[in-house]
Amino acid sequence: MQITSKLPSVGTTIFTTMSQLALEYKAINLGQGFPDFNPDPALIEAVHQAMLDGINQYPAMAGYPALRAAIASKTLARYGRRYNVDTEITVTSGATEALMASFQAFVHAGDEVIVIEPFYDLYIPAIELAGGIPVTVPMAAPSESVPYYRVDWERVEKAITNKTRMLVINFPHNPTCTLLQPQDLDALEQIVEKHPLIILSDEVYEHLTFDQKEHLSLATRPRLAERAVIVSSFGKTFHATGWKVGYCCAPAILSTEIRKVHQYTVFTVPSPLQAGLAAYMQDPATWERLPAFYQEKRDHLHQGLQNTRFTPMPSEGTFFLLASYENISELSELDFAKHLNQNYGVGAIPVSAFYLEPNSAQANHRLLRFCFAKQHNTLDQAIERLKKV
Ligand code: PMP
Ligand code: GLN
Repeated sequence: MQITSKLPSVGTTIFTTMSQLALEYKAINLGQGFPDFNPDPALIEAVHQAMLDGINQYPAMAGYPALRAAIASKTLARYGRRYNVDTEITVTSGATEALMASFQAFVHAGDEVIVIEPFYDLYIPAIELAGGIPVTVPMAAPSESVPYYRVDWERVEKAITNKTRMLVINFPHNPTCTLLQPQDLDALEQIVEKHPLIILSDEVYEHLTFDQKEHLSLATRPRLAERAVIVSSFGKTFHATGWKVGYCCAPAILSTEIRKVHQYTVFTVPSPLQAGLAAYMQDPATWERLPAFYQEKRDHLHQGLQNTRFTPMPSEGTFFLLASYENISELSELDFAKHLNQNYGVGAIPVSAFYLEPNSAQANHRLLRFCFAKQHNTLDQAIERLKKV
């Protein structure tokens, strides 16, 4: 049979590829981002209780009402914006579905969508599937004077044409582990004042920020929130990536269109998971304690790597950190990640995989991404192996 692929250049994601390699070589997997520990027993209990209580049939299409109310309270408490529970909050099958539904809902054939590079792998194929044209704008790479990745907003603005429909941003940023600064939001405000864009803001790591720095959600700025779809994930927040429950908050005019897609892709998301999350989230400590919890893990891995020939970089947020191997090898990032996996038994993700041209020189800075959402024992074993490199 002759098939014309809609996504001819898509293969298996780097996350799956590296996890499979890790299994094959019995490596400690610090690659794909997922915790190696369970969610809080109280959350598991709450989901179990919801099942016993008979919350097992289709919940409301837009999400179990108590969960939407809990999301509204959290967003108000955290960012000062009041989203309408009935019309502006939608529970989705992971952040993935919220992102995909947003692209399907707003990107028309031939529309341009600006994506900041490096980017999470889903954005480009999702834009293409909607018939859109991805336009990438590179982040400024770390230099001696400014030693961290940052968005060059002037370049972003220059990339805008009369076909630009949407701008995608992702902070806390996977994979560079950077946060938005107030001046980034100022620059964004100036851009949207001049250009009628929708901003798709992937904020799945919103609660994973360190050193007393807070995530600056687009929800904190009314002029941005008015035109933004803000996406989050309970997988990241509550250590349950396999449950695939996420959500998006957006003005009613945008949410209505997203729901049209959501209604016919999954219709709704497992009811006991939603009810359990709603009950569990009544206590704000459940998300307020995350920065301290993860900062300890970040510091543990950072300190451990300082006793190896890798050079860890600062991580302001997410559950990842980048480390340079420039003192070790001249291999490309992908080849070095495979080498590390096969010969030293540690899995990591090449940062080049987050670029349009992973094999190019611009994508290869001899950096690997390590996930520290692991028990200390796992991190210690990985560090022991990395010391041998
Ligand atoms: N966006 C980013 C930046 C991510 O790292 C992830 C994690 N896989 C997702 C979206 C998808 O989240 P979920 O697993 O909730 O679909
Ligand atoms: N977001 C996860 C990461 O960056 C991977 C999710 C996936 O495997 N699709 O590692």
